[in-house]
Amino acid sequence: MLTLRSKALDTVQNRKTVTVTPPSTRVSEYFNSNVFTDSSMMEFLPKEAYKAVSAAIKNGEKIDRAIADQVATGMKNWAISKGVSHYTHWFQPLTGATAEKHDSFFEPTEDGRAIEKFAGGALVQQEPDASSFPNGGIRNTFEARGYTAWDPSSPAFIMEGSNGKTLCIPTIFVSYTGEALDYKAPLLKALNAVEKAVVNVCNSYFDKNVNKSWVSLGIEQEYFLVDEAMCVARPDLMLTGRTLIGLSPEKGQQLEDHYFGSIPPRVYDFMIDFETECYKLGIPLKTRHNEVAPSQYECAPNFEEVNLAIDHNQLLMDVMEKVALRHKFKVLLHEKPFAGINGSGKHNNWSLITSTGTNLLAPTANPESNIQFLSFFVNVIKAVHDHADLLRASIASAGNEHRLGANEAPPAIMSIFIGSQMTEVLESLLNNKTSNNKSKAASINVKKIPEILLDNTDRNRTSPFAFTGNKFEFRAVGSSANCANAMIVLNTIMADQLNKFKAETDALIKKGKKKEDAILEVLKGYYKASKKILFEGNGYSDEWVKEATKRGLNNIKNTPEALNAYISTSSKNLFVKNEIFNEVELNARYEIMQELYVKKIDIEAKLLAQLAISHVIPAGIAYQRNLAENVKAMKDAGLSKADTEVQVNMIKELAQHIKTISINVSKLQVELEKAHHQASTHKSAMAFSSKVKPLFEPIRKSSDALEFLVDDELWKLPKYREMLFVK
Ligand code: ADP
Ligand code: MG
Repeated sequence: MLTLRSKALDTVQNRKTVTVTPPSTRVSEYFNSNVFTDSSMMEFLPKEAYKAVSAAIKNGEKIDRAIADQVATGMKNWAISKGVSHYTHWFQPLTGATAEKHDSFFEPTEDGRAIEKFAGGALVQQEPDASSFPNGGIRNTFEARGYTAWDPSSPAFIMEGSNGKTLCIPTIFVSYTGEALDYKAPLLKALNAVEKAVVNVCNSYFDKNVNKSWVSLGIEQEYFLVDEAMCVARPDLMLTGRTLIGLSPEKGQQLEDHYFGSIPPRVYDFMIDFETECYKLGIPLKTRHNEVAPSQYECAPNFEEVNLAIDHNQLLMDVMEKVALRHKFKVLLHEKPFAGINGSGKHNNWSLITSTGTNLLAPTANPESNIQFLSFFVNVIKAVHDHADLLRASIASAGNEHRLGANEAPPAIMSIFIGSQMTEVLESLLNNKTSNNKSKAASINVKKIPEILLDNTDRNRTSPFAFTGNKFEFRAVGSSANCANAMIVLNTIMADQLNKFKAETDALIKKGKKKEDAILEVLKGYYKASKKILFEGNGYSDEWVKEATKRGLNNIKNTPEALNAYISTSSKNLFVKNEIFNEVELNARYEIMQELYVKKIDIEAKLLAQLAISHVIPAGIAYQRNLAENVKAMKDAGLSKADTEVQVNMIKELAQHIKTISINVSKLQVELEKAHHQASTHKSAMAFSSKVKPLFEPIRKSSDALEFLVDDELWKLPKYREMLFVK
């Protein structure tokens, strides 16, 4: 019988590339064509409604019901003109994926006909049954109602299927009692908090003309593409998104021949198709290239306002998976699909920008405005220093646990890279000297602030949080994550820090200090207090792990423990004070994340046991049988013990590995049972992390040893070299 593996190999070799014809070679001709943009609003909405929506987008103003009816009608007419039949509220529950429940515009009338209808009420609010979404114990099942509510700041868009189109309305998702059940609601609150704090600081010290600010985010997305047929033959890839067993290929990434290499034709066609779909949805994709690992790729859009950037990234992951199906690929967004090979991340490039167009994290040649830059810059450092554990928690997940600190990925230690020039600037600030960084600063009154001309080649790719010239790059975020977790934390700690900065500086000014001196004194104190978080060396090295311990920086490797930072007293105060989460919401979220960890490891454990028993051991035994028959035949033919020694030793070796696997699978089953029966979800998660997961290793090791030993013909699972190199 043909195995799935041999069928897969055959299939892949006969794959044809799928021809794709974008609507035009000029992206500008179809960019945003499936988005209810400002210009479509102008065309389809009455003046009054258009004004109200614009104000809602720009200033967060509320839209009343009568206007909502007008907007709904305009939106429906626009959508129908594009061939849309259904609409859905599109939201981001705490499952990590996006959710949609489609309703038809179609409505039967009493006289037996039908009309297309979409009322303001249906635009503004919906009531999906929330009982199947994670809620962390917030709701009892008898009050399982949840509400989705329209977020006008992210435009509605059309999702195209091959046989129909759906209007998607971005929404927040809250419980009947008002607690957030999604990522977007707290994100919008955190953004609001930081924007207010930024305006406040700018107005007080630097620029009275700033009346608004916004947060920018550019998300680089790494992913793997593996042929669909290979995935079907690998239950672990199908169910967990990663390979639970598999021998590293003889050729991995050591030749460094994949990074920026020429893109394989089938992948190239996928990329064109995927980009076309993204452009229609207004996702401003800019770059595409091969990544370091074989079969690993990356794409990155231009930066956008955070809420939009995250909606776009969530949408991008969804579109990517759907388009890949057309090209018979499966997208692996898991942080570590293959052992011993680079994992995938999602770098979050983040900055703060004012209504006057100033990027507050971009240094300038003008020392006077550099005091503004330095203020924001040093406050980022202080915020990250004070809440490093919380930031670490914001990227904690079962998948990212494999990546942090493994092959070419930042460790679980939070540190900031700022580059040699900024180090010099901060050091001279501390020592009250003007930096010799091409300084003309002596000519103006803020003597201590230098001109800062950054050398943009000063990069460090091993830091989890790096300054890259005009933005910070949070590189430790996992590839499958909803970036909202990281962005909620980063923007909340920044808001809180800026408020503290303002209070401390004001206090000094009140005491009679000059503004610049007061600011510099506070910044100096911050730099001194948070210096230990700065690290310029190789974040991937063992020396750094030792050095970080000396500095007292935490290195929390396991997810359940890392998540504890969410419910520490300082985090609770931070979130409650800044009105991002109340305590009920925070506890619920914590519970959900622990639960998610348990579920993920539970699935992996059960699948690993299944693979070991039904695939690995039988393959080992089959080969053993062949060898035993061979030995018997040799003996029958009169060969001596010495002659059959090699075969006999192989049989023994196989037996040894089979035994190791069998013993550890039994242990795994015992520990699984125990882990499920703990006093709390956190204790369960800890048991999964410290008792269940460690058993994966001996099973994998022996399984991989068997893969090395067993006759290739008897091995039914596609091998690493086949999944990664056969295209
Ligand atoms: P890299 O060298 O890390 O690839 P790029 O300059 O290509 O850096 O930028 C990567 C991402 O950073 C892109 O998504 C880009 O739009 C984004 N980016 C650039 N400037 C900013 C900014 N001021 N704020 C936020 N993101 C930014
Ligand atoms: Mg980058």
